Amino acid sequence: MSNFSRRRFLGGAVTALPFGLTGSLAPKNLTAANVAGQADMLIVGKILTMNSYNPVAEAMTTLGDRVQAIGSLEEVMPFVGASTERIDVRDHTVTPGFIDSHSHPLFAEEAVGVNVNLPRIEDVKQALARQALKTPPGHWVRGVMYDDTKFTDERALNKDDIDDAVKNHPVFVAHRGGHTAVVNSRAIEMAGLTIDSPDPFGGRFFRENGEFTGKVAEHAMDVFFKVGIWPIMDRNVRQEAVKISSKNMAATGLTSTTDAFGNKDDLIAYHDARRNGELSFRISFMPGGNSKVYSGLKEAGIGSGFGDEMIRIGAVKFSADGSASERTMSMSTPYEGKSEDFGILTMTQEEIFEAVEDAVAHDFRVGIHANGDIAIDMVLNAYEKILKNHKGVNPRHRIEHCSLVNDEILTRIKAAGVIPTPFYTYVYYHGNKWVDYGYEKMENMFAHKSFLDAGIPVAPASDYTPGPYEPMMAIQSMVTRKDIRGREWGPSQKISVSDAMRICTIHGAYASFEEGLKGSLVAGKLADFVILDKDPHEVNPDEIVNIKILKTVLGGETTFES
Ligand SMILES: [Zn+2]
Repeated sequence: MSNFSRRRFLGGAVTALPFGLTGSLAPKNLTAANVAGQADMLIVGKILTMNSYNPVAEAMTTLGDRVQAIGSLEEVMPFVGASTERIDVRDHTVTPGFIDSHSHPLFAEEAVGVNVNLPRIEDVKQALARQALKTPPGHWVRGVMYDDTKFTDERALNKDDIDDAVKNHPVFVAHRGGHTAVVNSRAIEMAGLTIDSPDPFGGRFFRENGEFTGKVAEHAMDVFFKVGIWPIMDRNVRQEAVKISSKNMAATGLTSTTDAFGNKDDLIAYHDARRNGELSFRISFMPGGNSKVYSGLKEAGIGSGFGDEMIRIGAVKFSADGSASERTMSMSTPYEGKSEDFGILTMTQEEIFEAVEDAVAHDFRVGIHANGDIAIDMVLNAYEKILKNHKGVNPRHRIEHCSLVNDEILTRIKAAGVIPTPFYTYVYYHGNKWVDYGYEKMENMFAHKSFLDAGIPVAPASDYTPGPYEPMMAIQSMVTRKDIRGREWGPSQKISVSDAMRICTIHGAYASFEEGLKGSLVAGKLADFVILDKDPHEVNPDEIVNIKILKTVLGGETTFES
């Protein structure tokens, strides 16, 4: 090595840790043996490292699953040999792989349905018709990822649309939010419904002018599950679902995600996919608080942090209130125009205390879903109580979503070292829903800027399927605070492109205690990176969402190439 400082390459992983904490998973002191040898890959381009000591680099080499050296081209050239693959992307931008700290990668069930998240109703009809051709008689045709508010047609899908496309099969088009679906006439007929059939308790068959519209909500969906032949979600299908989901995510630049409410079948599916070389993301697995897998892990003495860099057990997940996008979160002030509606709580204070105590006694970190300020206050009460007797490294308990905040909440989160995971694409994607909160309240919702100003390492979170996971959409949403139609929601919460990119990378790593392993491009860390067509700093902020992902690399292996 010529005139570069070895410490700059090899010591970087430790000095780059944010927030003055040493991560439990920081690479051990690297020795020459770890990094010596001919590089597998040389990448030359504008590399945004997310390492504050060396924010922009010109070249990087990788060896095995790690970054070997990063700096100027001259500095890394000693590692390059005849067998090194050379990737010259001088016209493009390289960033660390993106991380999603709260998602549900297997909710879409794409292995057993056709994705109908398409721009026009006509596209949906064609997709369903194609799916019907592949489906045996009597079996359901399933559409997944439907969104009623996003068609250029500016109306929702209805029964007649589906009848046009599919007559002989029953069709069930599930909304991405999980609470409604649209069915066709064949489905209604098989379920034995007539226009006079009553709505079930807790459900509704939507009707208009003496006819079903095809839209069904909540428990009204249940009658369809009892008739016809549904696809079987067996072990092979679930493995296939992981393959599809992780491939789709890799195509958007994600290299790590989180299953924020996992069950036993999910954990097995991730492992099966990995064994077959089909797992295209790293996963932080958060078992559901009332799941069998959580009791089993506790029984086995396995807590948060167990696993390796591909599949690791994260915090246990509980849920304390309603939802932001479906407007049921628990708030101290009412919803717009509904003076009696303050949302709903789903756990009592006592239940939260008990859940947290039991989890911590079993070596689990805790992540509790709390959207509204009332629920957040209750979760903080429990975290503050348990932390009183805590010694050693802060366990980084989490508040999932943490949507509506105030100054007192920010102060308490900072003091307790708690990590909030607010929705990162919601402002952009769900704009039509924010009317119910009003412009004023939106200044304190999904409050990325307030968290950063308070020195809180706010994490990146999609909550897919309800929220899109695309990191470019997330960056645009946090930077512009504009929805798809261009309306601004909570402009005081706008953050810079650099801050948004740090949230989507190094903050994501911090949220799973893995900042010593990933989240920035530093020698010794995992070679997880993305090649973007353009630098998000250099395009019109309203067009960040259109930046193309050219290549995604996970641990030195390509998981996506355009
Ligand atoms: Zn969730």
